[in-house]
Amino acid sequence: MEIVLAESLGFCMGVKRAVDLAYRALEKSDPQQVVTLGPLIHNTQEIERLTKDGIGVIDENSIPENGTVIIRAHGVAPQAYEALKSRGLKIMDGTCPYVHYSQRKAMELQQEGYTIVIAGDKDHPEIRGILGFIDNQAYVVKTVAEAKALAAFDRVGTIAQTTISPQKYQAIVEALREESKEVKVCETICDATEENQRAVRELSLEVEMLYVIGGRHSANSNKLVETARENCPRALLIENADEINPEDLRGVKRVGISAGASTPDWMIQIVVERLREY
Ligand code: SF4
Repeated sequence: MEIVLAESLGFCMGVKRAVDLAYRALEKSDPQQVVTLGPLIHNTQEIERLTKDGIGVIDENSIPENGTVIIRAHGVAPQAYEALKSRGLKIMDGTCPYVHYSQRKAMELQQEGYTIVIAGDKDHPEIRGILGFIDNQAYVVKTVAEAKALAAFDRVGTIAQTTISPQKYQAIVEALREESKEVKVCETICDATEENQRAVRELSLEVEMLYVIGGRHSANSNKLVETARENCPRALLIENADEINPEDLRGVKRVGISAGASTPDWMIQIVVERLREY
């Protein structure tokens, strides 16, 4: 059985950067003194590894008295940042540069007097963070129907959650254009996840069976499976190598592997090795 890896898979630049930052902080700190504000990534096994290595997870209600706090790739609202700073904690900012860009664009739109519409999930930490930069003065829409339900505005400025699909963003923008005199579109979608999407699409044309390694709750891993299934109905999401059922591989000559943006290389390697055994 041939095992083919997607050309682009696994950790995106933003997540890799945040994890590296946490390990760098650990080198310079006493054990158990480094924590992340919210889980660094949506991957249970990687969180377990981080915890075992001494990098804990806190939330806004369990801020420690001292130590180093890592801001994750999704970023945080400036108010949350200030709250940590005022307690004298050391902060290392792992906010992804793409997310920083969205935060800056949102502030620019506000300064220019646009009504801001964000295409994304209002409960996602990235969006909550962006909203904090503009005093929550924005509409957040998840669907075209929600965009259509908004009132007509003269000047609308749009921001997209970094991980939504370009097609969805485009459709939401079109819906806003129907009612608004001017729509200024900020291109804030991150191409790291798009790269993984493009690669899994190509791979799905070449294999009979395809595994996407990723967390069950990871939106981008689930999206990879969805994309893969368009050409390869036997695409499956697995969290780890133990979820591979050898029965599924009976008669398969080529199996593909992709992985979500929160899946570390070491987990991909374990899956490859397990498939080699079969
Ligand atoms: S998916 Fe993109 S925006 Fe999000 S952390 Fe990764 S590189 Fe940054």
